[in-house]
Amino acid sequence: MRRFFQAGRAGEERSTRGAQMTDAAGAGRFAPSPTSDLHVGNLRTALVAWLLARHTGRRFLVRVEDLDAARVAAAPDVEARQLADLAAIGLGWDGEIVRQSERLDRYAAAIARLETYECFCTRREIAEAASAPHEDGYRPYPGTCRALTEAERAERRRTRPPALRVNAHGAWMSVHDRWAGTVSGPVDDFVVRRNDGAYAYNLAVVVDDVAQGVDQVVRGDDLLSSSPRQGWLTERLGGRVPEYAHVPLVVNAEGRRLAKRDGAVSLADLAARGRPAGAVLATLGHSLGLCEPGEHVTPETLLDRFDPDALPRGPWVYGG
Ligand SMILES: [Zn+2]
Repeated sequence: MRRFFQAGRAGEERSTRGAQMTDAAGAGRFAPSPTSDLHVGNLRTALVAWLLARHTGRRFLVRVEDLDAARVAAAPDVEARQLADLAAIGLGWDGEIVRQSERLDRYAAAIARLETYECFCTRREIAEAASAPHEDGYRPYPGTCRALTEAERAERRRTRPPALRVNAHGAWMSVHDRWAGTVSGPVDDFVVRRNDGAYAYNLAVVVDDVAQGVDQVVRGDDLLSSSPRQGWLTERLGGRVPEYAHVPLVVNAEGRRLAKRDGAVSLADLAARGRPAGAVLATLGHSLGLCEPGEHVTPETLLDRFDPDALPRGPWVYGG
């Protein structure tokens, strides 16, 4: 994936700190999926999203990305615990919580504005037809079904429901990341509606960001390679491409992405071991170079010290 990237100059600071926030101001957001409890890495990303939004005079929105109905149903009460965890470390948000499951009509309307085509390929067929996967495992779609005739599509619909893909016409897109610089990559004909009828993540986040006026996207850097695709779709849907700010992932002592099996990683786990939310906030602040471990801090204290250009760029090794 990195081979598609070109180094770029960091963007101009657009600080409006201290200015009155209005609805005309842009917005940042944190958008968790309510399928498992937030771990310290998710909370750290939420903290950075809050800090950067506030530092640049933006509203801070929280959106629940609950489109995967089966996984959400299998994890009841997770959304409430996630929101309680954000509040416990002192992160407040502006306006109402938005849930993707309540916005399906918007996704359908967006798809109606795009040039799409039906795709009948299985995962295996794409793996066999595609070029090598990117470093993050993503396989660009080779366009197999783009030129099917109506008769061929009718024939295939009898055996397999189609996914819908957007026709990107071989586009190439560059977006700006506050820390990674210019991120460029090809835009393949990615899925906008899966063959089980669910709207795809890449579609829903863009529709929502445009509708909510989100112009600053802070999230884990595992999503860095999807940003040219999403930036391109933003333009297709009449929005302005947001500034991206991808935060390095949190890894365990072995250098692997932090996961539940790594032990005490959620606020509930840590509280059970005698570490209240305030102590966890100090740990997160320390990992960002904003306070000492164990220091009594609030998000506002950290905001006073926050300098986006001084943020540590490497992965955070979390040792519990
Ligand atoms: Zn196909």
